[in-house]
Amino acid sequence: MITIVCAECSKSPFGVTVHGFFRCDHCGSEITVRDLVLDPGEVWAVDSAGTLGYLPASDRSRTRGRPVKNLRDHIDLTAEKAQIDADIKYAVTLDFGPHIGYLGAYGETLARMAGEYRQHEIARRVLTEYADETLDRANGN
Ligand SMILES: [Zn+2]
Repeated sequence: MITIVCAECSKSPFGVTVHGFFRCDHCGSEITVRDLVLDPGEVWAVDSAGTLGYLPASDRSRTRGRPVKNLRDHIDLTAEKAQIDADIKYAVTLDFGPHIGYLGAYGETLARMAGEYRQHEIARRVLTEYADETLDRANGN
């Protein structure tokens, strides 16, 4: 965990308070986790001493054993869209029940694909929209 230092005094880290706020040990300035500005993939964390910090994206991806792709290098998401095309082509061949079940679980698949990107939220939005469009087309709408 990387400790976050108070921006007001630049002297101390924040400690968690009983109210769920974080208070600077030096100047008493208080923040909430909503005040944090983190990069995509970074997550805030509190260590065992109650000190506020964050986990960098690369650390998290290492623990998940998965390379983090950059959306800038795969701006068209070509591989993922080809996979979605194939998956939806398969889904429409299924009977009604399995079809609904398959598509119901498909959000997980999209989340997993998007999770490989540093900009996973953007990737997920793009892929979800693409899947919806592809499904509409497959259903002849
Ligand atoms: Zn301070």
